[in-house]
Amino acid sequence: MDSIPCRMLRLMAVPFTQVHIDDVFWAPRICANRERTLSAEYRQYQETGRIGAFRLDWKPGDEPVPHIFWDSDVAKWLEAVSCSLASHPDPVLEALLDEVVGLVVSAQQPDGYLNVHFTVVEPDKRWSNLRDWHELYCAGHLIEAGVAHFQATGKRVLLDAMCRYTDLIDSVFGAEEGKRRGYCGHEEIELALVKLFRVTGEKRYLRLSKFFVDERGRQPHYFDQEALNRGEEPKKFWAGTYAYCQAHLPVREQSEVVGHAVRAMYLYSAMADLAGEYSDESLLAACQRLWDDLCLKKMYLTGGIGPSGHNEGFTTPYDLPNLSAYAETCAAIGLVFWNHRMLQLECDSRYADVLERALYNGIISGVSLDGEKFFYENPLASDGSHHRQAMFNVSCCPPNIARLLSSLGSYIYSQSADGLAVHLYVQGDMATTLADGTAIKLRQQTNYPWDGAIQISVTLSAPADFTLRLRLPGWCQQATICINGTHITPPVERGYFCLQRTWQSGDIVELTLAMPIERIVANPRVEQDAGRVALQRGPVVYCVEGVDHTESVYRLRLPADAQLEAHFEADLLNGVVVIEGEALAIDDACWEGKLYQQTTAVTTHPTRLRAIPYASWDNRAPGAMVVWLPVK
Ligand SMILES: [Zn+2]
Repeated sequence: MDSIPCRMLRLMAVPFTQVHIDDVFWAPRICANRERTLSAEYRQYQETGRIGAFRLDWKPGDEPVPHIFWDSDVAKWLEAVSCSLASHPDPVLEALLDEVVGLVVSAQQPDGYLNVHFTVVEPDKRWSNLRDWHELYCAGHLIEAGVAHFQATGKRVLLDAMCRYTDLIDSVFGAEEGKRRGYCGHEEIELALVKLFRVTGEKRYLRLSKFFVDERGRQPHYFDQEALNRGEEPKKFWAGTYAYCQAHLPVREQSEVVGHAVRAMYLYSAMADLAGEYSDESLLAACQRLWDDLCLKKMYLTGGIGPSGHNEGFTTPYDLPNLSAYAETCAAIGLVFWNHRMLQLECDSRYADVLERALYNGIISGVSLDGEKFFYENPLASDGSHHRQAMFNVSCCPPNIARLLSSLGSYIYSQSADGLAVHLYVQGDMATTLADGTAIKLRQQTNYPWDGAIQISVTLSAPADFTLRLRLPGWCQQATICINGTHITPPVERGYFCLQRTWQSGDIVELTLAMPIERIVANPRVEQDAGRVALQRGPVVYCVEGVDHTESVYRLRLPADAQLEAHFEADLLNGVVVIEGEALAIDDACWEGKLYQQTTAVTTHPTRLRAIPYASWDNRAPGAMVVWLPVK
């Protein structure tokens, strides 16, 4: 137990602190996140009492009562602000951050405990319901915040407080005699502990993460024992099954993605981390089985996951309803966390493909272009009643998007012993040091995702032998590469072009990814998409929105032979490529007073179809929306 085997990580992500983004797609959204979202969330957390609750001055009878997961909202905001400051210093924001950090730390108890609800509301209930009460989940988000705050500002105050809290947790939970063999119903602390280990080097934190993951789902079941200790009947679990929180089986025996989607993604993220840290093939194999089940049977075209609002999660294979899709923003963010970790273990482009699909579609749909309104659910069709809101009672998604956007640079590049990998094509700069000590800068110039032409300039402190891996996206059917103007055909390994040579400062790589409009069809087992196509160009999935059409979007039909063309509109939705073409609209008159009739009686008229990027819908006049269009 005490020896940590050597790591098997093939890649290490280049942190966002070494990456600068100045592209047309992400930079405006990162700016809106920094200038609008972070301050809007701060105002909301002040007004709702989330921040003030850390003063611990709540008394019985006061309203509102600090909720069991308020701490996690503030923690995600702290993490988002920390990451933003690291790439965009702002003394005013930093002062605000330090003020809130000071308040959070002031709530820490003499024994290290730090949780508002279980300090002032139910102090006698500490650790008594791990299954339902998010106590370790909140700790996990506070740990992530402490790590980010330290990495961004160099200040240890929150990190040290979280080490003290983790030391307390480590003294309570574990396999040793006298400790509780419990784990949280909502996974999160597992991945946070790996981050804490990586920044502090303290192996106890890594072992605690492994304990929580290994213990999950084992018999006798901790949640049963815990319920009995509370005087409850274990079988009367409100969610019905421990599959809801992925605790129905030990994790290495799990093959199907089940239950609450965000919880599942955070668990699998930790499993991937631990697979790498411990060179644990059985954990990696479980991750791969679960990945196949999710990405080949249970993922929307947009990268949204978890179709059901009932359990905020998964149902049966190929059940992907569009109008009622739950597809929580946080779940798609969790999908990115997990795939990013799998990518570091295997450098296989299928993980980057999923990551990119979620980023450009089902995640970024979660926030309005102005950065102030949010979707919790991201359906692939709407009758016109689904709109972003300023805030939710359960406000997990807004700060999750904020922390993702603040740290987006982390997802673009990785380093390995033999070189560098480029996973995403985003205009901007990256600087790092190669394994042999050579300083390197890469500059990407591109209008991606609107255009597939990417130019990468290499600047080196000295000539260097290394392999530059460039991802060949799964959506791309035709790609060409030139180095310094000379066309080359490099080998492709697991979906990456491998450019191995002695690189000179000033070398220029030109990658051209053909980006035609594609008609996408779903596996026939997805009955909700039968007879329909979706439009995709590059990584961007399209939708048609009511505001662009005189007919109802539900009347539109896209014939298989319809000519479609794409063009950039600078003044639309911060500048997007739209797809237009001839389509058909069903005449309303032929359906007057009828529920069913012969197809021969149905008449249509030609109409102009206009599709916009799915992620940008609901930023203009409210109306209906569809992604999957009937062919006839
Ligand atoms: Zn959420």
